[in-house]
Amino acid sequence: MKMRGVTLPGNLSVQFHEYDVPQPSFGQVLIRVKAITLCGSDKMLYTGKARFPRKENLINGHEVAGVIAGEGEGLRLFRKGDRVIVYHHSGCGVCYSCRKGYVNLCRGTSQATYGWQRDGGLAEYMIAEEKDLIKLPDSMSYLDGTPLTCSFGAVYEAMKKVGVSGDHSVAVTGLGPVGLSCLMLAKAMGAKPVIGIDHNAYRRELALRMGWADAVFTPEEALEGVRSLTGNQGVERAFDASGDESARSQAIDLTRECGKCTFLGEGGKAVFEPTRTLIHAQKTIQGSWASPVWQLEDLMERLERWDLHPEKLVTHTFRLDQAAEMFALMNSDQCGKVAVVFDEE
Ligand SMILES: [Zn+2]
Ligand SMILES: [Zn+2]
Repeated sequence: MKMRGVTLPGNLSVQFHEYDVPQPSFGQVLIRVKAITLCGSDKMLYTGKARFPRKENLINGHEVAGVIAGEGEGLRLFRKGDRVIVYHHSGCGVCYSCRKGYVNLCRGTSQATYGWQRDGGLAEYMIAEEKDLIKLPDSMSYLDGTPLTCSFGAVYEAMKKVGVSGDHSVAVTGLGPVGLSCLMLAKAMGAKPVIGIDHNAYRRELALRMGWADAVFTPEEALEGVRSLTGNQGVERAFDASGDESARSQAIDLTRECGKCTFLGEGGKAVFEPTRTLIHAQKTIQGSWASPVWQLEDLMERLERWDLHPEKLVTHTFRLDQAAEMFALMNSDQCGKVAVVFDEE
């Protein structure tokens, strides 16, 4: 049996190739892909600005949900017909980082991230390791599940690191899909006000219209706007989801004394004055990347409890054969999250 898959050579082109449908080996499953969302790192692959090691000529895409269509030998938990999502980093399972739960930090020789160093999910079928699967509850759609595997899960991990609750006001610089996820989760955790900041009018309006942000500002308006909503103090928790140097500085400036500022957006540099910021103002600045698998299971449970659906982040859906159009739209930033969905049988 044959299938089609998508490769991103890195020059703004999207290539389709025909492949044999792969066979699962021991401990693996064959997944019939039902939905896949794109991540900021897919944009890096598309534009040729990848910041992680990539293997050429494999099927890209790593935010995958689907149904198990074939079983390898030795499965312990999952069975054919199960609805699942695939955690995108596949670690060795025995190194220090893997045992700690931070599979994304694995340095084992068998480490391979789906869509980067092994075939991913921009295809009709995909092979995944059983250990990388997370069950998708019946109340959650495939598109609810896909963002958890990478971006939405990474936001939850960042928020668990610093703690976000009704005790906090939250500001987010950069309202791409990760920034929008920050707003959505901060609101679900009870933060108020939740404030979004971006140059991009489409995304500011989306954040307001969907009710994820209580207020939105351009970067030029942000300092005064945030102070007016926080007793002139700034927020207790700030998140930068842009990776932009000036937005990072702004996120630090919007954080009140003794507050916490987290960097999620990748690339670029950060400039700050340690004396003024860290020592005298006693702010905490930290980074966060991806999420442990166990925490995604916790998140899945919370999403059901809160009746919160990450699918709402998806503003545009495409068929696989429209992948070129999808990547062009993502690159324009005039969208929320974009996805390929496969027809239900
Ligand atoms: Zn990702
Ligand atoms: Zn490892």
